[in-house]
Amino acid sequence: MSDFVKDLMAELKAKNPAEPEFHQAVEEVVESLALVLERHPEYRAAKIIERIVEPERVIMFRVPWLDDQGEVQVNRGFRIEMNSAIGPYKGGLRFHPSVNLGILKFLAFEQVFKNSLTTLPMGGGKGGSDFDPKGKSDNEVMRFCQSFMSELFRHIGPNTDVPAGDIGVGGREIGFLFGQYKKLRNEFTGVLTGKGLNWGGSLIRPEATGYGAVYFAAEMLSTRNETLEGKTCLVSGSGNVAQYTVEKILDLGGKAVTLSDSSGYIYDEAGIDREKLEFVKELKNVRRGRIKEYAEEFKSAVYTPADPSLDYNPLWNHKADCAFPSATQNEINGKDAQNLLNNGVYVVSEGANMPTTLEGVKIFLDKGILYGPGKAANAGGVAVSGLEMSQNSLRLSWTREEVDNRLHHIMKSIHKTCVEHADRFGTPGNYVNGANIGGFLKVADAMLDQGLV
Ligand code: NDP
Repeated sequence: MSDFVKDLMAELKAKNPAEPEFHQAVEEVVESLALVLERHPEYRAAKIIERIVEPERVIMFRVPWLDDQGEVQVNRGFRIEMNSAIGPYKGGLRFHPSVNLGILKFLAFEQVFKNSLTTLPMGGGKGGSDFDPKGKSDNEVMRFCQSFMSELFRHIGPNTDVPAGDIGVGGREIGFLFGQYKKLRNEFTGVLTGKGLNWGGSLIRPEATGYGAVYFAAEMLSTRNETLEGKTCLVSGSGNVAQYTVEKILDLGGKAVTLSDSSGYIYDEAGIDREKLEFVKELKNVRRGRIKEYAEEFKSAVYTPADPSLDYNPLWNHKADCAFPSATQNEINGKDAQNLLNNGVYVVSEGANMPTTLEGVKIFLDKGILYGPGKAANAGGVAVSGLEMSQNSLRLSWTREEVDNRLHHIMKSIHKTCVEHADRFGTPGNYVNGANIGGFLKVADAMLDQGLV
């Protein structure tokens, strides 16, 4: 670690205590950027790094709501407006009991670089609440969303800040949030993405993150003249990203053998085919059940409950070629990374945000596998959100093929940016450096152009 990185991290930790995920995300990026700063003293002089790690604005607010028993509940709401150098703040909302300021700052920070990589004009933001939608009735979720938007509406807008979904925020929640925004503002605008198709949503938005992560894996494989055909894939999670990752793996001839939720995981050696995937979609998106039911329905599968006493995740300990972590941050630690390598995995494409710890990342990089970090590999979701914004502005809807083609093209372009920047800065094949540097340069130059704001 260079002196500059050491000093910066010491100051960041002192100034932002108890935010370990934020420290982790920054450390990974600034280590890559040390290569850039040597060649570009102008970024050092303008203190671009010191500015980019400080959110432009942080909003925290009370979200009171009534549960079905008529009891008052209180949650905390957040929106981190991290960087608007290249466009309006853009990034999802996460509703999960683990949500806190540090987690949202890490996500907002990652989002700045990811959005820049998409080639579209979007700044970075992220928000959410420690509200847990699990086990809540539709009416409770609606009342919570309405209360959340009753504060958030004054801070966002189609040219200011455009939130979307993330963990715990899918089509149902976006609908309730949009309805409340429209009522309060008395205007129908593209202020949120991930909307329903009948009211301004884009085709392929639900599919985009998962499809994009698989397109990215296919691009990485193409550098070795290989394809996904016949490859065995480990997938974690069973929500939006995981479901469409499995769908695209099937489209490209691969075989997915695992899925999980926070209670445990299933291993289906026969492969998750289209019929089984439809079962998962119904289970998770309609009945809102647990992945355990998959193993009750399909006898080829084995269910293993989560065991918090283990220091590794057994999901990552099966023979495979590719891994698509699609649940949450830090789900692959050093031991998991080593287990993946021991089991033959040589392609990791991150659908989730920062699913691999710094130790795990180092193990992948040292081994020289095809490792696509989340800010590149999962950028397809926000890219199609950007396309949803364009369609809303034009008051037009593009066809499924048109949006999918654009998504595919964007994922290829992100891959190319990563490869070129990794090469240019002397670390060929290192997609971490490629993504961090490629995403950074555009934002840094825009910040220089716009002066000290
Ligand atoms: P969903 O809420 O649809 O699904 C999340 C899945 O991950 C669920 O199966 C959930 O299980 C599991 N999960 C969540 N938290 C934990 C945890 N702490 N431990 C174990 N399992 C957990 O979310 P998404 O699919 O939208 O998001 C998944 C990941 O992808 C996140 O990292 C998100 O930031 C990232 N991402 C999402 C994008 C999108 O477009 N949706 C875009 C880019 C990145 P359970 O139901 O039991 O909680």
